[in-house]
This record gives sequence, C-alpha cells and structure tokens, in this order.
Amino acid sequence: MSDAANGARVPQVLAQPSAGFEHPAAEVPRAAQPVAPAAPANLPTPVATPILITNARALTLLMGKRPRRGDDLAELSILPRADVLIENGKISGVMPSPSALRDLPKPGLRVIDANGDVLMPGLIDCHTHACWAGSRIDEWEQKLAGASYLDILKRGGGIMSTVNAVRKASQAELTNLLLERLFKMLENGTTTIEVKSGYGLSTHDEIKMLRAIHDAAPKFPGTIIATALLGHALDPAEGREDFIRKTIHETLAAVSSEFPKMAIDAYCETAAWSPGECQELFDAAITRDHPIRVHTDQFNSLGMTSTAALRGYMSVDHLEAVTPAQVEALGKSGTAGVLLPVCGFHLDGRYAPARALASAGTILAIASNLNPGSAPCYSMQFVIQLAVRNLGLSVGEAISASTVNAAHVLGMGDRGVIGPGQRADLVLLKTSDERELAYEVGLNHTRMVIVGGRVVRER
Ligand SMILES: [Zn+2]
Repeated sequence: MSDAANGARVPQVLAQPSAGFEHPAAEVPRAAQPVAPAAPANLPTPVATPILITNARALTLLMGKRPRRGDDLAELSILPRADVLIENGKISGVMPSPSALRDLPKPGLRVIDANGDVLMPGLIDCHTHACWAGSRIDEWEQKLAGASYLDILKRGGGIMSTVNAVRKASQAELTNLLLERLFKMLENGTTTIEVKSGYGLSTHDEIKMLRAIHDAAPKFPGTIIATALLGHALDPAEGREDFIRKTIHETLAAVSSEFPKMAIDAYCETAAWSPGECQELFDAAITRDHPIRVHTDQFNSLGMTSTAALRGYMSVDHLEAVTPAQVEALGKSGTAGVLLPVCGFHLDGRYAPARALASAGTILAIASNLNPGSAPCYSMQFVIQLAVRNLGLSVGEAISASTVNAAHVLGMGDRGVIGPGQRADLVLLKTSDERELAYEVGLNHTRMVIVGGRVVRER
C-alpha cells in the first residue's frame, strides 16, 4: 500500500486516457440501467462550476485491466501529490502537483487544497436491499436472547414480516424510506447504489417497489441502479409451483415491459429458489434481454455458481459456502463474485473464502447487502474494514473491490477510477493514508463527497 509498493506502476501524466486502461470486451457485461437521470429534475440545475483539487494523494486505480483480478486487484495506481480538474461533471485532467492544470483560465474555478489527503473514486455499493418498510429490530433482539430461526418465523418474523410491511406501504412511503437510507449512505461516501426489489413477491408489489426505487432517483444526487429480485423467496400463501409459474410468466413479463434490460436476480438456496427454478426464470429473462445476477452459496452450495460462470452471468453474490470446484470455475470466468461480509458479522461468523477466490483469479467486489434481516449496514467504509479483517483482503484489494470492480458488476465503465473522461464521483478522505480507511473503525472518514462534479457533502 506504500508508494514504494506501487512505485513501478505509478502513472505520471494522466491528462490523456492511458493506453493501459483497458476494457476487455469479453468481460464487460451489458450496461445496467441507471434509474437516476443525468440532471435530476427537482435538484438545483447543476452549475458547471469547474473544480480544481490540488495536492491530493490520488488513488487513481487507472493502470491495468478493468475489471481487476489476480495481482492487479491490489493495484491502486497512486499519485502521491496530484491535481485533479473537474469540468461539466467529469474529470478532465489528472496530473502530478504542481501541474499545468493550475494555469488554465477557468472562470468561477473553485480550488480545493487537499493538503495531502486521500482522494479516491466514490464508493460503489453494488448489492443492497435498501428499499423496505417495517422493522426487524424486535426479531434481532429475540435472536440475541436465544430464539431460533423457527421461533422467530412462528412469531411472524423473518423475511415475510418485511414482505407484509412492504405490501402495506404505499409507493410514496417506500420512496421516502429508501431516500432516508440513500442519504445516510451518501454521507459515508457511497455515490452509486444498487437497490433490489424482492420484498413484494407479487406482480403488483414488485412493480410498486421498482417504481418506488425509480421515483427516488430524481431526489438523490448519486446514481441508483435498480435490480428486479424476482426470485427472492417463496410466498407460503401460494403453492410453490403456482408461485414460480406466476413469477416467470406474469411478473417477469410486467417488469420486462416497464423496465427493459433491468438486471434480474434470484436467491438460489434450499429454503428459497432451487437451481432448476432459477434457471427457468433466468432463461426467460435472457430471452427478454435482461442481464442476470444470482445469490449463490450463502448456506448451501447447489451448483449455481459454476452454472452462472459458464453462462456468463454478471455476478454471483454471497459465496460463503462455495466449494473449491466452484471457485475454480468462477476464477476462469468473466462473472464477478460479490462478497457480503456484513452477513458474517451480523449473523453467524461465516465468511466467503476470499483468498481462494482471489488466487483463482475471480473478479471480486464487496458490498453492504444493506437489508433489515441480515445486514443493517449503511457504510461501505465498514464493509472495507470487515473485508480486510474477516475476508483477508489487503487494503488495496478491498478498495478496488468497492470501486472499479463494483462499477464493473453494475456494467458502468464511466466510474470507479480517477481518470480523464470519467464521471466526477469522488471522495476526499480526512487522512493522508488510505490504510486508515480500513484501520480505524467506528467513524466516517469522509471530508468531502463530490457527485457528478458537484460537492454534495462537506465536513
Ligand atoms: Zn442480497
């Protein structure tokens, strides 16, 4: 993580796109659908005020292939002192300080002296269930007091309690609850957030959730990416076969027509959707041109990870129970592995074998998995802290996994690194040593959060 460690690959002048900045076509998934419009209607019209950040320790993540795998995962391409120019919402220049960027005449230019503090790409949370209603805190207290999962289900807890609360909530209520959570995440430096549906379990309620997520976009300065988690659970009030059929033939069709090309997701587990049922849903979704993500191997390895790798799905998420054969298949594929260490922290102390996955060459990303049952976590900083302690990732690997590789999972090539032409989503930390982001827990390390070239948080 020291400069010396990165010395051989430190970029020198980055005013032009680097030849080493590659986008291997085979590994870039189909574009996700950001639901945030470029110029949110009810926010002040973005003023094209240029910003020059000087004297920053810039984690550019610019060198090497994109996405990162193998030894490249730890490569942060640090410029120890850099000037970064932002114009029209994008990064227009990155050069070692003091640079010629300071001499360009820019009317209204705001100069921010980073004074050696770390400037990094905005954090990207590529797996959340941030849209929900109701509370599971009573259930958590019961669990702490020794109640079993079955006891909790009998008392009306578990995922169905969230499903029932979501069904009762209006679309506007869901949007407001979601926005409260998104702003907490933004406060912690997360500038792009994936949000899944999945608590509706009916065509009407899944569409309501997706519309609620869509409605949040113009009220949020960051970017929201919606995913239709149609195979989250089974509704116990309906016969299994009927529910699966209805989801595939009715709900998927409704989602497809209102939200074309949105990623489709499912939870492949013994107590949820079987591999065969997932496959049927995914085949129907692929016919309609949807990219696929899938929750696999959280508790049981059912073979879906290698199937996903073989079929080129965007990501497999969880992987706590992944087997060595599945690790090997994943490592050779273009499918990303998204690790969710807050589940292990909050639930049961089980973590994905991240070192084996990294050694096999897996495209690794990490995410909060924010949800009321297994991961009440709003901070990608905390996810990095857990990833370093409990997944065994290095600080550099954890940062790549929550920026450049997380962008890849969402199919977004315009963010996740600090380079010319990239969207100006940036976080300035209150430290000159990026290792502190992983080392010091329990505080918010952000000094400034910039989204699309606008300063949205300043502390
Ligand atoms: Zn999840």
